[in-house]
Amino acid sequence: MKIARVALDVPLEQAFDFLVPEGLDPARGSLVVVPFGRTAKVGVVVARAARSDVPAERLRELAKVFDDVAPLAARDLELLEFCAAYYQRPLGEVLHASLPPRLRQARRRVIKAQPASAPAPGPFVAPVEATPAQAQAIAQVLEGFERFHPVLLAGITGSGKTEVYLRLIEQALARGRQALYLVPEIGLTPQLESRVRSRFPGVAIVAAHSHLGEGERAVAWLAAHAGRARIVLGTRLAALAPMPELGLIVVDEEHDPSYKQHEGLRYSARDVAVRRAQLAAIPVVLGSATPSLETWANAKQGRYGLAELRERALADAKLPVVRMVDTRADRPIEGLSDALLRALRARIARREQSLVFVNRRGFSPVLFCRSCAWHSTCTRCSANLVLHQRAGEMRCHHCGHRERVPARCPGCGSPDLAPVGQGTQRIEEALGAALPGARIARVDRDSTARKGALADVLALVRDERLDILVGTQMLAKGHDYPRLTLVGVVDSDCALYSVDFRASERLFSLLTQVAGRAGRAREPGEVLIQTDFPAHPLYAAVAAHDYAAFADASLEERRLARFPPFAHLAMLRAESKHAGEALAFLRAAARLAQGLDGKVEIFDPVPAPLERKAGFERAQLLVRAASRGALQPFLRAWKAGLDEKGGRRVRWSLDVDPQEA
Ligand code: ADP
Ligand code: ZN
Ligand code: ZN
Repeated sequence: MKIARVALDVPLEQAFDFLVPEGLDPARGSLVVVPFGRTAKVGVVVARAARSDVPAERLRELAKVFDDVAPLAARDLELLEFCAAYYQRPLGEVLHASLPPRLRQARRRVIKAQPASAPAPGPFVAPVEATPAQAQAIAQVLEGFERFHPVLLAGITGSGKTEVYLRLIEQALARGRQALYLVPEIGLTPQLESRVRSRFPGVAIVAAHSHLGEGERAVAWLAAHAGRARIVLGTRLAALAPMPELGLIVVDEEHDPSYKQHEGLRYSARDVAVRRAQLAAIPVVLGSATPSLETWANAKQGRYGLAELRERALADAKLPVVRMVDTRADRPIEGLSDALLRALRARIARREQSLVFVNRRGFSPVLFCRSCAWHSTCTRCSANLVLHQRAGEMRCHHCGHRERVPARCPGCGSPDLAPVGQGTQRIEEALGAALPGARIARVDRDSTARKGALADVLALVRDERLDILVGTQMLAKGHDYPRLTLVGVVDSDCALYSVDFRASERLFSLLTQVAGRAGRAREPGEVLIQTDFPAHPLYAAVAAHDYAAFADASLEERRLARFPPFAHLAMLRAESKHAGEALAFLRAAARLAQGLDGKVEIFDPVPAPLERKAGFERAQLLVRAASRGALQPFLRAWKAGLDEKGGRRVRWSLDVDPQEA
């Protein structure tokens, strides 16, 4: 009897046994189709056996072995197994998450192998000579090319980190290895993709991100897996792409929150990349101008190498001058202070460009009644509806609910309704009114919903047919515009006093990044931050371009509060249609946790920051441990207990290393 043990995408930990029919011989790592209930499912063979605990008459036969996909290499399968164990998810689900949609289908056509990219000898960009700092960083990584060697590349914006990555990738290719290049959001960096392609003409490069069509994604995945693609450039999902000859991993903007997935397999692509480098015994380069505090601490304590680029690569590109506008004295009208308007006018007169940055996270215009204080709230969420003036609608940014803007207050009938808070649209309108004749464009999720819309706006900036760009964090990274010399930050104070323990880290990094947009070339840049707290140490550190001072002070706070990286967290989240049930479930879960013999601290269950979402009541329970070694076995036992408990009326999930707590 030949048995194949197959991991399937079902909410159960165990693998399932199937009889292997005559003539088939799937190896460990093979993708197969098996009957499951009345359907067929794609799974991966995790083991072979000569007998099964399942009685022979109940064993079903394996239906198919895909032969257009070679079995996953041992190391690539181990990576998936690590993710399953670490994030407490079934292996089949991890496999499912790692496969492009087309390859998850049990009934699909054979996919023909295609060359990974037309290896046309494109315009070769001759590499510039490395600066001494770049050369040193490169040498530091090369020192450990044949072993696990994590290096933090801490380099200010424009210091030439990308150039360092490209040279290291060149080294990996020269050694006959594949390279994995991860970026937070590929949609925003078409410039990068063409930079990589023109740097390596004739090298097979694939992009892997969710904007690709299903066919393209399958082809890219297969090319990476077969080793035809030598460079994989992708977003977090690419962290799991199989690459049998992987020799180098680059994680650009390693601090970026979008490396963390917030549903299903809640993995951090950055952390998985480091683990992957360890399994493969290769270097991993984590680059950022504002490293995450976890990575900074690892470098400080010598667990990671540290290479620093302290100056901009282009000799005459200077860091921008950052100033505070004290909004207690210079009161903004419609969000705009006098100082900012004056600076904008001066730029227009000099035919230079400006960026007005609206930190929309947590601050959007809400319709408010001046007579009775009624304001627009979502009926399904504990959140305010956000006013979208142009569409004449109010929208919930959490569940998508929409309503027409009422003509009169639903509470008291007064017509005196007005928006409070600044959104990008309101700022755009206020700028238009204050600066007649200025050419203004807005970039946010709404204005860029149409495919190509963002590229169109950015082309306007590049062609200097625009004076002012108004936008959200979508504008913070990646783009290089030589004529852009002013950045105005309209409102970021709310993030100073957020309950989220990462809020100030995020704010520092966001401000540093938007500031980095100013004065990338010859013109010196200026950044104006409107604030009620001009003396706040976080703003002072941004103005001094002193990441290390900010990071060291923040780490000290984290140490005192025993938060990451000085502790390890997991969050149990629950939601239910009925008030109280989610909290009751978490109270039972807390009792169960206390009964387990673990060295973990169990917090009290509390309502989630967004207490109602899409009609569900939500609550959360945090657990904390001094080390991963203490947390992991506890989580395994706890999860097993919770699985047993079930509770059909409550949906729950476990988030290991949550981003918010
Ligand atoms: P980062 O990734 O750190 O933001 P980039 O690699 O994009 O920085 O480099 C910023 C600018 O400096 C780019 O215009 C790049 O072409 C240029 N640059 C990078 N390295 C060098 C170098 N060694 N010599 C000259 N110019 C360089
Ligand atoms: Zn009213
Ligand atoms: Zn809602």
